[in-house]
Amino acid sequence: MIPYGRQDITREDIDAVLEVLQSDFLTQGPKVPAFEQAVAAHCGGGYGVAMNSATSALHLACLALDLGPGDWLWTTPITFVASANCGLYCGASVDFVDIDPRTYNLCPRALERKLIKAEKNGRLPKVVVPVHLCGQPCDMASIGALADKYGFRVIEDASHAIGGRYRNEPIGCGRYSDITVFSFHPVKIVTTAEGGLAMTRDGALAERMALLRSHGITRDPALMDREPDGGWYYQQIELGFNYRMTEMQAALGLSQVARLDQYVTRRNELAHRYDERLAGLPLTTPWQHPDSYSGRHLYVIRLPRCGKEKHARAFESLRERGVGVNLHYIPVHTQPYYRRFGFADGDFPEAEAYYREAISLPLFPTLTEAQQEQVCEAVAEVVRA
Ligand SMILES: *Cc1c(COP(=O)(O)O)cnc(C)c1O
Repeated sequence: MIPYGRQDITREDIDAVLEVLQSDFLTQGPKVPAFEQAVAAHCGGGYGVAMNSATSALHLACLALDLGPGDWLWTTPITFVASANCGLYCGASVDFVDIDPRTYNLCPRALERKLIKAEKNGRLPKVVVPVHLCGQPCDMASIGALADKYGFRVIEDASHAIGGRYRNEPIGCGRYSDITVFSFHPVKIVTTAEGGLAMTRDGALAERMALLRSHGITRDPALMDREPDGGWYYQQIELGFNYRMTEMQAALGLSQVARLDQYVTRRNELAHRYDERLAGLPLTTPWQHPDSYSGRHLYVIRLPRCGKEKHARAFESLRERGVGVNLHYIPVHTQPYYRRFGFADGDFPEAEAYYREAISLPLFPTLTEAQQEQVCEAVAEVVRA
């Protein structure tokens, strides 16, 4: 079976991890800050705070922005559950904004309509989490303008999007947001096995996230409420967590990030070949906004108005033909855990229509031409059936 995504681990990656295993530090050594700086350099500067997952990074991003009980976090229904769960971790309420039918990203016009209503009810969000689905950046200029007008903070969930660009600036540069989160899960663009990172241009937010990443404990006398008792002394000044990344993970990440541009170029080449090979079939290939240079984490096709059964059958037929398709994502508001908050089918029609038609095809840098050909032939057979 050709998987939908797969990591690329080179000899250099393995050597980098082995070197750490034989060094003095397995955690809290020099590799984590070096990795943070390497990612920051790709984002055009700012502060990176590496963690054990993007889920942890989303959680601490919300806490650093003081999201708490009585507050609202809004995100898109077409995302991994973690983009919404981070709000619940903080005791906040979560709501969703429907997607743009062309990009499948959070729709700024739907956001504006919802903000106008929310302002009347006194239920404006404190945090909005746009997700750069498949690697394609959201309409950040519009979202940023609404953030200024309505006073909410923005966390970009860029789990799919490292290495991409928006209006010719790197995703993670933070022009239109407070914090940008990356994931380094093995299916993502670069991997640390498990891992994530929060990027920000705001030094105070970075310090707060670094503090919360390690139990809320500080050794900085400037942050203490009295003189240290001695060289051993530390103080816990907030309720934090252990969300630290290990040195082995950071060494793997450093080695992988050196190939980031190469990976994104290759993913774009493969995506363009899919566009060409699938043109003319009764399906929709991923439309790209001219402001966008996508990291191309995923290649999602849609089978327009094919109906629930035909969609499921197409999915199964592709798997039977050795094509490891997947579906990103089940709308979060339809999950049983979210229905308890009162969400129901029909709440976000564009997201639900997308779910009934979407299929993610295999896309990863080591996908061969022959494998891609096999995928295209299988897709052509299945959609014509
Ligand atoms: C993968 C992913 C996450 C979670 O990342 P982890 O590193 O696995 O915690 C969050 N949001 C989106 C959109 C993702 O794809």
